[in-house]
Amino acid sequence: MPGFELFGEAERKEVNDVLENGVLMRYGFDGLRNGHWKAKELERELEDQLQVKHAQLVSSGTAAVTIALASAGIGAGDEVIIPTFTFVASFEAIMMLGAIPILVEIDDTLTLDPEAVKKAVTPNTKAVMPVHMCGSMANLDALSSICKTHDLVLIEDSSQATGATYYGKPLGSIGDLGCLSLDYVKIITCGEGGAVLTNNEEYYNNADHYSDHGHDHKGNDRGAETHPFLGYNFRISELHAAVGLAQLKRLEEFVAIQKKNYTIIREALSTIPEVTFRTVPEGGEESYSFLSFFLPNLEITCKTMSAFKENNIDACFHYYDNSWHYVRKWQHLKDLKVLYPLSKEVIDGLKYLQTKTFPKSDQYIGRNISCLIKLSWTEDEVKERANKMLISIKEVIS
Ligand SMILES: *Cc1c(COP(=O)(O)O)cnc(C)c1O
Repeated sequence: MPGFELFGEAERKEVNDVLENGVLMRYGFDGLRNGHWKAKELERELEDQLQVKHAQLVSSGTAAVTIALASAGIGAGDEVIIPTFTFVASFEAIMMLGAIPILVEIDDTLTLDPEAVKKAVTPNTKAVMPVHMCGSMANLDALSSICKTHDLVLIEDSSQATGATYYGKPLGSIGDLGCLSLDYVKIITCGEGGAVLTNNEEYYNNADHYSDHGHDHKGNDRGAETHPFLGYNFRISELHAAVGLAQLKRLEEFVAIQKKNYTIIREALSTIPEVTFRTVPEGGEESYSFLSFFLPNLEITCKTMSAFKENNIDACFHYYDNSWHYVRKWQHLKDLKVLYPLSKEVIDGLKYLQTKTFPKSDQYIGRNISCLIKLSWTEDEVKERANKMLISIKEVIS
Protein backbone atom coordinates (compact mmCIF):
# COMPACT_ATOMS: atom_id res chain seq x y z
CA MET A 1 0.00 0.00 0.00
CA PRO A 2 -0.54 2.47 -1.56
CA GLY A 3 -1.29 1.49 -5.16
CA PHE A 4 -0.21 4.88 -6.48
CA GLU A 5 3.39 3.81 -6.02
CA LEU A 6 3.00 1.57 -9.05
CA PHE A 7 0.96 3.91 -11.28
CA GLY A 8 2.05 3.27 -14.86
CA GLU A 9 1.29 2.31 -18.44
CA ALA A 10 -1.88 0.29 -17.71
CA GLU A 11 -3.43 3.18 -15.75
CA ARG A 12 -2.53 5.68 -18.50
CA LYS A 13 -4.09 3.47 -21.18
CA GLU A 14 -7.41 3.20 -19.34
CA VAL A 15 -7.53 6.96 -18.70
CA ASN A 16 -6.70 7.68 -22.35
CA ASP A 17 -9.64 5.53 -23.49
CA VAL A 18 -11.86 7.98 -21.61
CA LEU A 19 -10.04 11.11 -22.78
CA GLU A 20 -10.29 10.03 -26.41
CA ASN A 21 -14.08 10.19 -26.46
CA GLY A 22 -14.49 12.74 -23.68
CA VAL A 23 -17.42 11.04 -21.94
CA LEU A 24 -16.41 11.66 -18.34
CA MET A 25 -19.76 10.65 -16.85
CA ARG A 26 -20.56 7.07 -15.92
CA TYR A 27 -24.22 7.16 -17.02
CA GLY A 28 -25.75 7.94 -20.42
CA PHE A 29 -24.16 9.33 -23.62
CA ASP A 30 -24.27 5.80 -25.07
CA GLY A 31 -23.60 6.89 -28.66
CA LEU A 32 -20.53 8.96 -27.90
CA ARG A 33 -18.54 6.63 -25.70
CA ASN A 34 -17.16 4.08 -28.20
CA GLY A 35 -18.21 1.29 -25.89
CA HIS A 36 -16.17 2.58 -22.92
CA TRP A 37 -17.97 2.08 -19.62
CA LYS A 38 -15.13 2.22 -17.11
CA ALA A 39 -17.28 2.46 -13.96
CA LYS A 40 -19.47 -0.45 -15.06
CA GLU A 41 -16.40 -2.47 -16.01
CA LEU A 42 -14.74 -1.78 -12.68
CA GLU A 43 -17.95 -2.84 -10.87
CA ARG A 44 -17.91 -6.20 -12.72
CA GLU A 45 -14.20 -6.61 -11.88
CA LEU A 46 -14.88 -5.84 -8.18
CA GLU A 47 -17.73 -8.38 -8.14
CA ASP A 48 -15.44 -10.95 -9.68
CA GLN A 49 -12.37 -10.36 -7.52
CA LEU A 50 -14.17 -9.73 -4.24
CA GLN A 51 -16.73 -12.50 -4.85
CA VAL A 52 -19.94 -10.57 -4.35
CA LYS A 53 -23.11 -10.38 -6.45
CA HIS A 54 -23.12 -6.58 -6.57
CA ALA A 55 -20.66 -3.71 -6.41
CA GLN A 56 -21.74 -0.07 -6.59
CA LEU A 57 -18.93 2.38 -7.25
CA VAL A 58 -19.25 5.78 -5.61
CA SER A 59 -17.28 8.99 -5.10
CA SER A 60 -15.41 8.04 -1.90
CA GLY A 61 -15.07 5.49 0.85
CA THR A 62 -16.85 7.87 3.21
CA ALA A 63 -19.74 8.04 0.73
CA ALA A 64 -19.71 4.23 0.52
CA VAL A 65 -20.24 3.95 4.29
CA THR A 66 -23.05 6.53 4.20
CA ILE A 67 -24.74 4.74 1.29
CA ALA A 68 -24.35 1.29 2.87
CA LEU A 69 -26.06 2.54 6.03
CA ALA A 70 -28.81 4.35 4.09
CA SER A 71 -29.38 1.28 1.88
CA ALA A 72 -30.08 -0.78 4.98
CA GLY A 73 -32.57 1.85 6.16
CA ILE A 74 -30.48 3.23 9.03
CA GLY A 75 -31.26 6.82 10.03
CA ALA A 76 -32.54 9.16 12.72
CA GLY A 77 -31.87 7.95 16.25
CA ASP A 78 -30.57 4.51 15.24
CA GLU A 79 -27.41 3.32 16.97
CA VAL A 80 -24.47 1.93 15.04
CA ILE A 81 -21.66 0.18 16.91
CA ILE A 82 -18.15 1.05 15.75
CA PRO A 83 -14.63 0.60 17.17
CA THR A 84 -12.60 3.27 19.00
CA PHE A 85 -9.80 2.66 16.49
CA THR A 86 -11.03 3.56 13.00
CA PHE A 87 -11.01 6.52 10.64
CA VAL A 88 -13.16 9.62 11.30
CA ALA A 89 -15.27 8.63 8.25
CA SER A 90 -17.02 5.97 10.38
CA PHE A 91 -18.75 8.43 12.70
CA GLU A 92 -19.05 11.15 10.04
CA ALA A 93 -21.06 8.82 7.79
CA ILE A 94 -23.29 7.64 10.65
CA MET A 95 -24.01 11.19 11.83
CA MET A 96 -24.73 12.36 8.26
CA LEU A 97 -27.85 10.17 8.42
CA GLY A 98 -28.88 11.40 11.87
CA ALA A 99 -27.83 8.11 13.44
CA ILE A 100 -25.66 7.73 16.55
CA PRO A 101 -22.16 6.24 16.58
CA ILE A 102 -21.62 4.01 19.62
CA LEU A 103 -17.91 3.59 20.17
CA VAL A 104 -16.77 0.37 21.82
CA GLU A 105 -13.46 -1.15 22.87
CA ILE A 106 -11.09 -3.00 20.60
CA ASP A 107 -9.02 -6.08 21.48
CA ASP A 108 -5.62 -7.39 20.41
CA THR A 109 -6.88 -7.79 16.81
CA LEU A 110 -6.93 -3.93 16.80
CA THR A 111 -10.57 -4.20 15.74
CA LEU A 112 -13.96 -4.55 17.51
CA ASP A 113 -13.95 -6.66 20.66
CA PRO A 114 -17.00 -8.98 20.29
CA GLU A 115 -17.59 -9.02 24.07
CA ALA A 116 -17.73 -5.21 24.14
CA VAL A 117 -20.13 -5.26 21.18
CA LYS A 118 -22.49 -7.62 23.03
CA LYS A 119 -22.56 -5.27 26.01
CA ALA A 120 -23.25 -2.21 23.83
CA VAL A 121 -26.38 -3.59 22.14
CA THR A 122 -29.58 -1.71 23.11
CA PRO A 123 -33.12 -1.71 21.69
CA ASN A 124 -32.00 1.17 19.41
CA THR A 125 -29.02 -0.68 17.90
CA LYS A 126 -29.46 -1.28 14.18
CA ALA A 127 -26.00 -2.17 12.90
CA VAL A 128 -22.51 -3.28 13.83
CA MET A 129 -19.72 -1.85 11.70
CA PRO A 130 -16.34 -3.53 12.16
CA VAL A 131 -13.46 -1.63 10.57
CA HIS A 132 -10.69 -3.88 9.34
CA MET A 133 -7.80 -1.58 10.21
CA CYS A 134 -4.27 -1.80 8.85
CA GLY A 135 -4.68 -4.84 6.61
CA SER A 136 -6.21 -7.30 9.07
CA MET A 137 -9.69 -8.06 10.31
CA ALA A 138 -12.25 -8.34 13.05
CA ASN A 139 -13.51 -11.71 14.28
CA LEU A 140 -16.34 -11.88 11.76
CA ASP A 141 -17.78 -15.20 12.97
CA ALA A 142 -18.28 -13.80 16.46
CA LEU A 143 -19.75 -10.54 15.14
CA SER A 144 -22.05 -12.32 12.64
CA SER A 145 -23.41 -14.43 15.43
CA ILE A 146 -24.14 -11.35 17.61
CA CYS A 147 -25.86 -9.70 14.63
CA LYS A 148 -28.01 -12.79 14.00
CA THR A 149 -29.05 -13.03 17.65
CA HIS A 150 -30.11 -9.36 17.82
CA ASP A 151 -31.28 -8.96 14.20
CA LEU A 152 -28.63 -6.34 13.36
CA VAL A 153 -27.07 -5.43 10.04
CA LEU A 154 -23.36 -6.28 9.72
CA ILE A 155 -21.47 -3.69 7.67
CA GLU A 156 -17.76 -4.28 7.02
CA ASP A 157 -15.50 -1.32 6.37
CA SER A 158 -12.61 -2.99 4.56
CA SER A 159 -11.11 0.23 3.20
CA GLN A 160 -7.72 -0.63 4.69
CA ALA A 161 -7.82 -4.36 4.06
CA THR A 162 -8.77 -4.89 0.42
CA GLY A 163 -7.05 -8.12 -0.59
CA ALA A 164 -7.29 -9.75 2.86
CA THR A 165 -9.43 -12.87 3.32
CA TYR A 166 -11.39 -14.62 6.08
CA TYR A 167 -11.78 -18.40 5.67
CA GLY A 168 -10.86 -17.83 2.02
CA LYS A 169 -13.48 -15.13 1.40
CA PRO A 170 -12.44 -11.57 0.54
CA LEU A 171 -13.12 -9.00 3.26
CA GLY A 172 -16.08 -6.85 2.35
CA SER A 173 -17.99 -9.84 0.95
CA ILE A 174 -18.90 -11.39 4.30
CA GLY A 175 -21.22 -8.92 6.06
CA ASP A 176 -24.65 -7.84 4.78
CA LEU A 177 -22.81 -4.93 3.19
CA GLY A 178 -19.14 -4.10 2.62
CA CYS A 179 -17.47 -0.74 2.02
CA LEU A 180 -14.20 0.03 0.27
CA SER A 181 -12.24 3.22 -0.11
CA LEU A 182 -10.35 3.70 -3.37
CA ASP A 183 -8.80 7.01 -2.33
CA TYR A 184 -5.25 8.01 -3.16
CA VAL A 185 -3.52 6.20 -0.29
CA LYS A 186 -5.31 2.86 -0.42
CA ILE A 187 -3.96 -0.40 -1.90
CA ILE A 188 -6.08 0.11 -5.03
CA THR A 189 -6.65 3.74 -5.95
CA CYS A 190 -8.97 5.65 -8.26
CA GLY A 191 -7.56 8.97 -7.03
CA GLU A 192 -10.84 9.38 -5.17
CA GLY A 193 -13.51 6.69 -5.04
CA GLY A 194 -15.25 4.01 -3.05
CA ALA A 195 -17.51 1.00 -3.43
CA VAL A 196 -20.47 -0.63 -1.70
CA LEU A 197 -20.47 -4.43 -1.90
CA THR A 198 -23.44 -6.71 -1.20
CA ASN A 199 -25.15 -9.97 -2.08
CA ASN A 200 -28.52 -8.46 -1.14
CA GLU A 201 -30.62 -7.40 -4.16
CA GLU A 202 -32.61 -4.77 -2.27
CA TYR A 203 -29.58 -3.14 -0.66
CA TYR A 204 -27.87 -3.06 -4.06
CA ASN A 205 -30.83 -1.37 -5.76
CA ASN A 206 -31.01 1.13 -2.93
CA ALA A 207 -27.29 1.89 -3.24
CA ASP A 208 -27.50 2.23 -7.03
CA HIS A 209 -30.43 4.66 -6.87
CA TYR A 210 -29.42 6.59 -3.74
CA SER A 211 -25.94 7.40 -5.05
CA ASP A 212 -27.46 9.06 -8.14
CA HIS A 213 -30.32 11.31 -6.89
CA GLY A 214 -32.69 8.35 -6.58
CA HIS A 215 -32.60 7.62 -10.34
CA ASP A 216 -34.05 4.19 -11.11
CA HIS A 217 -31.61 3.64 -14.03
CA LYS A 218 -34.32 1.95 -16.13
CA GLY A 219 -34.28 2.28 -19.92
CA ASN A 220 -31.75 4.41 -21.80
CA ASP A 221 -33.21 7.91 -21.53
CA ARG A 222 -31.72 9.40 -18.38
CA GLY A 223 -34.08 12.38 -18.52
CA ALA A 224 -37.13 10.12 -18.45
CA GLU A 225 -36.03 8.02 -15.45
CA THR A 226 -38.22 8.15 -12.35
CA HIS A 227 -37.20 8.62 -8.73
CA PRO A 228 -38.66 5.95 -6.46
CA PHE A 229 -37.11 7.77 -3.46
CA LEU A 230 -34.87 10.72 -2.58
CA GLY A 231 -31.16 10.40 -3.20
CA TYR A 232 -27.99 12.42 -3.48
CA ASN A 233 -25.03 12.72 -5.83
CA PHE A 234 -22.28 10.33 -4.79
CA ARG A 235 -21.28 9.40 -8.36
CA ILE A 236 -17.76 8.48 -9.44
CA SER A 237 -16.42 9.86 -12.73
CA GLU A 238 -15.21 7.72 -15.63
CA LEU A 239 -11.69 9.13 -15.25
CA HIS A 240 -11.44 7.94 -11.67
CA ALA A 241 -12.98 4.57 -12.50
CA ALA A 242 -10.48 4.12 -15.36
CA VAL A 243 -7.52 4.41 -12.96
CA GLY A 244 -9.13 1.94 -10.55
CA LEU A 245 -9.80 -0.55 -13.34
CA ALA A 246 -6.10 -0.80 -14.19
CA GLN A 247 -5.19 -0.94 -10.49
CA LEU A 248 -7.68 -3.61 -9.46
CA LYS A 249 -6.32 -5.99 -12.08
CA ARG A 250 -3.04 -5.81 -10.12
CA LEU A 251 -4.48 -6.54 -6.66
CA GLU A 252 -3.01 -10.04 -6.43
CA GLU A 253 0.40 -8.76 -7.53
CA PHE A 254 0.26 -5.92 -4.95
CA VAL A 255 -0.66 -8.28 -2.10
CA ALA A 256 2.19 -10.62 -3.06
CA ILE A 257 4.74 -7.76 -2.99
CA GLN A 258 3.41 -6.61 0.39
CA LYS A 259 3.60 -10.14 1.80
CA LYS A 260 7.23 -10.45 0.76
CA ASN A 261 8.23 -7.10 2.32
CA TYR A 262 6.11 -7.68 5.44
CA THR A 263 7.66 -11.10 6.04
CA ILE A 264 11.24 -9.77 5.95
CA ILE A 265 10.46 -7.12 8.59
CA ARG A 266 8.35 -9.43 10.73
CA GLU A 267 11.04 -12.10 10.83
CA ALA A 268 13.60 -9.52 11.94
CA LEU A 269 11.37 -8.15 14.73
CA SER A 270 10.40 -11.66 15.85
CA THR A 271 13.92 -12.07 17.25
CA ILE A 272 13.06 -9.57 20.03
CA PRO A 273 11.12 -11.39 22.80
CA GLU A 274 9.47 -8.13 23.99
CA VAL A 275 7.82 -7.60 20.59
CA THR A 276 4.44 -9.28 20.04
CA PHE A 277 2.24 -9.03 16.97
CA ARG A 278 -1.43 -8.20 16.54
CA THR A 279 -3.75 -11.21 16.63
CA VAL A 280 -5.23 -12.21 13.30
CA PRO A 281 -8.53 -14.06 13.89
CA GLU A 282 -8.53 -17.78 13.08
CA GLY A 283 -9.22 -18.30 9.37
CA GLY A 284 -7.90 -14.85 8.48
CA GLU A 285 -5.13 -13.88 6.09
CA GLU A 286 -3.94 -10.27 6.11
CA SER A 287 -3.45 -8.07 3.06
CA TYR A 288 0.02 -7.30 4.49
CA SER A 289 -0.56 -3.56 4.00
CA PHE A 290 0.84 -2.88 7.47
CA LEU A 291 2.92 -4.70 10.04
CA SER A 292 1.36 -4.01 13.45
CA PHE A 293 3.13 -4.96 16.67
CA PHE A 294 2.97 -4.31 20.41
CA LEU A 295 5.74 -3.24 22.79
CA PRO A 296 5.64 -3.86 26.58
CA ASN A 297 4.28 -0.44 27.61
CA LEU A 298 3.42 3.11 26.52
CA GLU A 299 6.76 4.58 27.56
CA ILE A 300 8.81 2.07 25.55
CA THR A 301 6.50 2.62 22.59
CA CYS A 302 6.97 6.42 22.68
CA LYS A 303 10.75 6.01 23.00
CA THR A 304 10.79 3.55 20.11
CA MET A 305 8.89 6.05 17.93
CA SER A 306 11.54 8.68 18.79
CA ALA A 307 14.31 6.22 17.96
CA PHE A 308 12.62 5.43 14.62
CA LYS A 309 12.54 9.15 13.87
CA GLU A 310 16.21 9.61 14.72
CA ASN A 311 17.11 6.69 12.46
CA ASN A 312 14.95 8.03 9.58
CA ILE A 313 12.47 5.15 9.66
CA ASP A 314 9.33 6.70 8.16
CA ALA A 315 5.78 5.37 7.62
CA CYS A 316 5.39 3.97 11.15
CA PHE A 317 2.40 5.15 13.17
CA HIS A 318 1.70 5.32 16.91
CA TYR A 319 -2.05 5.93 16.68
CA TYR A 320 -2.29 6.81 20.37
CA ASP A 321 -1.32 10.38 19.43
CA ASN A 322 -3.18 10.51 16.11
CA SER A 323 -6.24 12.70 15.63
CA TRP A 324 -7.64 10.88 12.57
CA HIS A 325 -7.78 7.32 13.78
CA TYR A 326 -8.17 7.07 17.54
CA VAL A 327 -10.86 8.26 19.95
CA ARG A 328 -8.42 9.92 22.38
CA LYS A 329 -7.92 12.94 20.10
CA TRP A 330 -11.42 13.27 18.61
CA GLN A 331 -12.14 16.44 20.56
CA HIS A 332 -14.32 17.84 17.74
CA LEU A 333 -16.63 14.85 18.10
CA LYS A 334 -16.72 14.96 21.90
CA ASP A 335 -17.48 18.71 21.80
CA LEU A 336 -20.01 18.26 18.95
CA LYS A 337 -18.36 20.93 16.82
CA VAL A 338 -20.69 21.16 13.81
CA LEU A 339 -21.68 23.76 11.23
CA TYR A 340 -25.38 23.13 11.60
CA PRO A 341 -27.73 22.11 14.40
CA LEU A 342 -27.86 18.42 15.27
CA SER A 343 -31.05 16.59 16.17
CA LYS A 344 -31.91 16.11 19.82
CA GLU A 345 -31.48 12.34 19.42
CA VAL A 346 -27.89 12.75 18.26
CA ILE A 347 -27.02 15.32 20.95
CA ASP A 348 -28.46 13.10 23.67
CA GLY A 349 -27.10 9.95 22.05
CA LEU A 350 -23.53 11.27 22.13
CA LYS A 351 -23.54 12.53 25.73
CA TYR A 352 -21.85 9.30 26.83
CA LEU A 353 -18.62 10.50 25.14
CA GLN A 354 -18.23 13.26 27.77
CA THR A 355 -17.36 10.73 30.45
CA LYS A 356 -16.72 7.40 28.78
CA THR A 357 -13.18 6.04 28.98
CA PHE A 358 -11.72 3.22 26.92
CA PRO A 359 -8.98 1.69 29.10
CA LYS A 360 -8.66 -1.49 27.07
CA SER A 361 -8.30 0.37 23.77
CA ASP A 362 -5.80 2.80 25.37
CA GLN A 363 -3.83 -0.18 26.55
CA TYR A 364 -3.63 -1.75 23.06
CA ILE A 365 -3.25 1.43 21.00
CA GLY A 366 -0.77 2.87 23.52
CA ARG A 367 1.57 -0.10 22.98
CA ASN A 368 0.96 -0.48 19.24
CA ILE A 369 3.09 0.64 16.31
CA SER A 370 1.79 0.01 12.78
CA CYS A 371 4.23 0.29 9.91
CA LEU A 372 3.06 0.82 6.36
CA ILE A 373 4.41 -1.76 3.92
CA LYS A 374 5.29 -0.08 0.64
CA LEU A 375 5.12 -1.58 -2.83
CA SER A 376 8.05 0.34 -4.24
CA TRP A 377 10.79 -0.79 -1.83
CA THR A 378 13.63 -2.90 -3.20
CA GLU A 379 14.61 -6.01 -1.27
CA ASP A 380 17.77 -4.28 -0.06
CA GLU A 381 15.75 -1.32 1.18
CA VAL A 382 13.41 -3.61 3.11
CA LYS A 383 16.32 -5.47 4.70
CA GLU A 384 18.03 -2.24 5.67
CA ARG A 385 14.79 -0.92 7.15
CA ALA A 386 14.22 -4.15 9.10
CA ASN A 387 17.72 -3.96 10.49
CA LYS A 388 17.37 -0.30 11.52
CA MET A 389 14.06 -1.06 13.23
CA LEU A 390 15.64 -3.95 15.09
CA ILE A 391 18.54 -1.81 16.29
CA SER A 392 16.21 1.04 17.35
CA ILE A 393 13.94 -1.23 19.40
CA LYS A 394 16.87 -3.03 21.04
CA GLU A 395 18.41 0.29 21.99
CA VAL A 396 15.22 1.36 23.78
CA ILE A 397 14.59 -1.95 25.50
CA SER A 398 18.13 -2.64 26.77
C1 LIG B 1 -9.79 5.78 3.92
C2 LIG B 1 -10.82 5.24 4.80
C3 LIG B 1 -12.18 5.59 4.69
C4 LIG B 1 -12.67 6.73 3.85
O1 LIG B 1 -12.33 6.70 2.57
P1 LIG B 1 -12.29 8.01 1.64
O2 LIG B 1 -12.29 7.36 0.30
O3 LIG B 1 -11.01 8.71 1.93
O4 LIG B 1 -13.50 8.81 1.90
C5 LIG B 1 -13.11 4.94 5.48
N1 LIG B 1 -12.73 4.02 6.37
C6 LIG B 1 -11.43 3.67 6.53
C7 LIG B 1 -11.09 2.62 7.52
C8 LIG B 1 -10.44 4.28 5.77
O5 LIG B 1 -9.18 3.94 5.97
